[in-house]
Amino acid sequence: MKSMIYELIDKLYETNTLSSAEFYELFTDRSEETDTYAKQLACKVREENFGNSIYIRGLIEFTNYCRNDCYYCGIRRSNKKAQRYRLDKEDILTCCEMGYGLGFRTFVLQGGEDAYFTEERMTGIIRAVKEKYPDCALTLSIGEKPLHTYEAYRLAGADRYLLRHETADDEHYGRLHPPELSAAYRRECLQNLKNLGFQTGAGFMVGSPYQTTETLVKDFLFLKELNPEMVGIGPFISHHDTPFKDEKSGTLADTLFYLGILRLMLPCALLPATTALGTIHPTGRELGILAGANVVMPNLSPLAVRRKYLLYDDKICTGEEAAEGLANLQKRMEGIGCCIVVDRGDYPADR
Ligand code: SAH
Repeated sequence: MKSMIYELIDKLYETNTLSSAEFYELFTDRSEETDTYAKQLACKVREENFGNSIYIRGLIEFTNYCRNDCYYCGIRRSNKKAQRYRLDKEDILTCCEMGYGLGFRTFVLQGGEDAYFTEERMTGIIRAVKEKYPDCALTLSIGEKPLHTYEAYRLAGADRYLLRHETADDEHYGRLHPPELSAAYRRECLQNLKNLGFQTGAGFMVGSPYQTTETLVKDFLFLKELNPEMVGIGPFISHHDTPFKDEKSGTLADTLFYLGILRLMLPCALLPATTALGTIHPTGRELGILAGANVVMPNLSPLAVRRKYLLYDDKICTGEEAAEGLANLQKRMEGIGCCIVVDRGDYPADR
């Protein structure tokens, strides 16, 4: 029984894919030993493709206003307790200035779907950042937009876009989101982003409510087909002011295992060890890297607003995950044989 799982991991390593039935078996019959094997192999694949380099992204959470009402998310529009804020162009440029000085060469502008940031305002911000920092990559993570808006962002100079697909199963998607949101539209957005030439990121939460082995198999088959340049996964963590407040959080072991499987399936992908992973375990992000991740995204948002961008409870927002703690983070990475580099950290084929 056990040896079958080792064979499946080897097959994934050699061919970068498995059938639906094989993924199902791999996800069902895993053990601590086979998890360790998968993570070690994934770590080797990371080293083959990226050496000991870890890429950093300066995360700027520039608005927590959101028109959406995702059941899992702390900044959903129905959460009247969330203290809303938005940063303007000057604030964002100040964050970039600080980040650039620290060695960041990628900035990620993430936020809720905030109508204040019209296409015009957003393209103004993109142009300003790219003009001032032409040697940096700019990533956006601001949700679903019509094709022409994505196109305008791209023309203004944005390089990358993160839009997690959340789940590839339509019914599961319907249990995580209100009826006005659909898995099909989310997928269409991802395809549009790819077609426009963005380095595109998809992903999902590990252990989200109603997730099953079947939905996870669909996630992996979907990701294989989309072939995104980036994949963000982290544990679901409940937020006390959402409909999912009593739901269990995703586990460290599962998140690390799926990270390893992602690395084996998409060897060159940019895979972050996410803030959520760092939140559920004190060395979560190091463990993520040891499972195949190669990116960390320290927070560059101004201290005054950091606590307000609370997607889930207990989100780490002071200390080493923050940009000021970069020297410490470097030490932690060196402790596991890795090294933070001053580099845009593009997808290998695009370098
Ligand atoms: N509004 C943007 C960016 C949002 S938040 C968008 O729609 O893409 C980025 C990611 O945080 C989401 O895609 C989701 O997967 C994750 N997230 C939200 N709530 C979470 C929670 N309670 N636990 C863990 N991750 C969560």
